[in-house]
Amino acid sequence: MTRRFYLDANATAPLHPAARAATVAALDAANPMSPHAAGRDAAMIVDRARSAVGRLVRRDPREVFFTAGATEANTWILSRLRSDARPLVLASAVEHPSVLAWADHTVPVDEDGVVRLDALEALLARHAERLAVVSVMAANNETGVLQPLDEIAARVRAAGLLLHCDATQLPGRLPVAVPADFITLSAHKFGGPKGVGALVAGAAVEALLRGGPQERGLRAGTHNVAGIAGMGAAAEACGTMAAAARDQLQAVCEAHGGRVLGKGAARLPNTLSVLFDQPGDLVVMALDLAGVCASTGSACSSGSAAPSHVVQAMGLSGTPVRLSLSPGQDVAPVIPILEHVLASLEDACEW
Ligand code: PLP
Repeated sequence: MTRRFYLDANATAPLHPAARAATVAALDAANPMSPHAAGRDAAMIVDRARSAVGRLVRRDPREVFFTAGATEANTWILSRLRSDARPLVLASAVEHPSVLAWADHTVPVDEDGVVRLDALEALLARHAERLAVVSVMAANNETGVLQPLDEIAARVRAAGLLLHCDATQLPGRLPVAVPADFITLSAHKFGGPKGVGALVAGAAVEALLRGGPQERGLRAGTHNVAGIAGMGAAAEACGTMAAAARDQLQAVCEAHGGRVLGKGAARLPNTLSVLFDQPGDLVVMALDLAGVCASTGSACSSGSAAPSHVVQAMGLSGTPVRLSLSPGQDVAPVIPILEHVLASLEDACEW
């Protein structure tokens, strides 16, 4: 059987053993809202996880609201901050589709995928009076490119506006110090289970789901106690990564004529996105046959024929190959496979 190498952590990172143990242990938990000892035990599990997530993002745990993932957290903040007086959302052109779905205006990026601050200033000057919130991600899921959040936050604050940051790809890769009023997180990107995330809200926001008193009445519905426990354990276990392994893969790709997306910008240490002469889907398919799990960009757009909006926003065309690493991953066995696959595709194309 072919050995399998998983290089798609940005789609979902491997479940951390501590998160698995915490999730399984909490499957038998009672309802955290129940007025008895079993309910209090379950509430303690949720509280502990809330504190861990608060520590991860260096925020008061009372600002942490659990959700069913980052898509829900993005939808919550961007849908509920709008009002009749301030109906507009401004977002960067390279956001995740769950943010772009709410964007009325987009801030262009440069050829490295970095938000153009001059364009941000111009858009703020034009629309500030009618904007509810500005949304800029911390790190792009397709390219790993980091946004200059301090500079962005300074401009958004100077305009008297609130900043939301989809920080989904940051934990487990880099320290999470995000100067935003609202932060979105997703557990499965940093070693937790799928289907659980959080909105960190440092300012008031309307309820997403009304009903019970859960999450201080802002996100009603019985807690996903097992998922929340897993997210908390993943947050506690979460570290940062170095770029050395990614850079080894990058050197191989460049030696085979690959163009690294966002090379001139600061990037996540685990992410490599490369345009080759050959279509990215072909390279991903050949890697898959050789036992390497890679992707052509975001998991949401994989399998769709539409070109990536991120690549387009950078003024480029073509389908890139994304390799994204998990904490502590050894790429030594992958290097010869990557070499071989890229060389074979070159030969096949020449032939
Ligand atoms: N935001 C970013 C930047 C992402 O990478 C993803 C997942 O791919 C999401 C949001 C959506 O996360 P979830 O799967 O938790 O809904």
